[in-house]
Amino acid sequence: MKLTSQDFIQLENKYGAHNYHPLDVVIDKGKGVWVWDVEGKKYLDFLSAYSAVNQGHCHPKIIKALNDQANKLTLTSRAFYNSILGEYEKFVTEYFGYDKVLPMNTGVEGDETAIKLARKWAYEVKGIEKYKAKIIFCEGNFHGRTMAAVSASTDPDCRDGFGPYLPGIEIIPFNDINALEKALQDENVAAFLVEPIQGEAGVMVPNEGYLKKAHMLCKSKNVLLICDEVQTGLARTGKMLASDYDNVRPDILILGKALSGGVMPISAVLADDDIMLAIKPGQHGSTFGGNPLAGKVAIASLEVINEENLVENAFKLGNYFREEMQKVVDELEIITLVRGKGLLNAIVIKPTATGKTAWDVCVELKNNGLLAKPTHGDIIRFAPPLVITREEIDWAINTIGKVLQKFETENKPVVTENR
Ligand code: PLP
Repeated sequence: MKLTSQDFIQLENKYGAHNYHPLDVVIDKGKGVWVWDVEGKKYLDFLSAYSAVNQGHCHPKIIKALNDQANKLTLTSRAFYNSILGEYEKFVTEYFGYDKVLPMNTGVEGDETAIKLARKWAYEVKGIEKYKAKIIFCEGNFHGRTMAAVSASTDPDCRDGFGPYLPGIEIIPFNDINALEKALQDENVAAFLVEPIQGEAGVMVPNEGYLKKAHMLCKSKNVLLICDEVQTGLARTGKMLASDYDNVRPDILILGKALSGGVMPISAVLADDDIMLAIKPGQHGSTFGGNPLAGKVAIASLEVINEENLVENAFKLGNYFREEMQKVVDELEIITLVRGKGLLNAIVIKPTATGKTAWDVCVELKNNGLLAKPTHGDIIRFAPPLVITREEIDWAINTIGKVLQKFETENKPVVTENR
C-alpha cells in the first residue's frame, strides 16, 4: 500500500523528536526550483532549505561530482591525507582570497570553529590574559543550536532552558555602531561576530556602511571581524558575499549551507595565516570535516555559482522581486513592508482581528503551490533557489499577491507599529 502525506507526517510525529514545526507538506522529489510531494503535487520552493539550495535541487553537475567521488573514496578521516582535500583547499582559498581554510560540516560548527579560533588567537597572538577573552555578538543573531550559539542567542525559543551558558559573550544591538564602539573599549575583546544581514531574525538589513564602519573600529582595536555568511553568502544577496556590499573582507569568514548546493553538510572557516595557524594539530577538527566527497561536491557547487551567473541573477531578479512586491504592499493593508537584498527577502504581516498569522498565509501559499515559512510569527522569508527565472518569479509574485489579497479580505489587520 502506498503511503500518503498524512502517513509520513504521522511517522515523523511518532518516531522523531518534536524539535521542529514543519508545514504539512511531504516533499518527495526536487529539480531546480521545483519540488513534488508524495501525491505528485508540484510546488515552487521559496525557501531553498534556508538558502542551502542556491544552485537548485539536485543540480546535475553537483550530483555528478557526488556520484563520481562516492564510487571512488568518501572518507579517510584526517588521520591520513587524501587525494582531494588539498585540491579543494587550494580551490576554495583562491576563490575567496584567504591563506587557509578549516573545513567542517554544519554551519554551526563553522561558528564554533571561528569562536575557538578567535579565542586562541586572542591568547597567542593578541596577548589577552588567559581565559579573559570576550566575543561580541548582536541581538537577534542566529548562529545555530550548539551551546556556544545558544549562549550567544537572544531568542527565548533558542536559549531558554539550556543554561548554564558559555561565558565570555557580550551582546550589543544590531546595526548600532555606537554600541560597538563602546563595547570595543574593553581590551579583552577578541572578536565581533556578526551576520551581514540577519536572516533568521527576519532578514534584517543594516544601514549602508554599517559593516565597513564596524570593520574599521575593530581594526583600530586589533579585534577580529568574523562574518557569519552561512545564510547570506554564496550569491544569495546578489553579491558573492553580503560583506562585499561594504567592500569588507572579514578577518574570519564562515560559510556553510550552499557550499554543497544542499547536497550534504559542508562548512568552511577561512582566514589568513596569522589567525589560522593559532590552532595546532589536535586542537580542533571533526571526523567528517574535509572528507573527499565534500571536497568534490564543494568545488562543483562553487563552480556552478560562477558558470550560471547566480550572483547577477540574484541581484537582478532580487531588485525586480522587491519592486513588484512593493506594488503589492502598496495595495494591501495587511503587509507593512518588503525588505531584503538579492533573493533574500521578507515581508511583515500585521496582526489580524481574527488572530490569523503569517503561518496561515504560508499554509495558503502552500495550497497554491508555493513553499515559504514564517519566522518570529509575523515575518515570511522569501528565498528561492538562485537558478530561478523571470517567468518563475512572475508566477510567484502573482501567487503571493493573490493569496495575500484573499487573506486580507478574510482577516482585517489591526493597526500596529512597523517592525
Ligand atoms: N549561521 C547562520 C547565519 C544561519 O542562518 C544558520 C542556519 O540557519 C547557521 C549558522 C547554522 O547552520 P546549520 O543549521 O547548518 O548548523
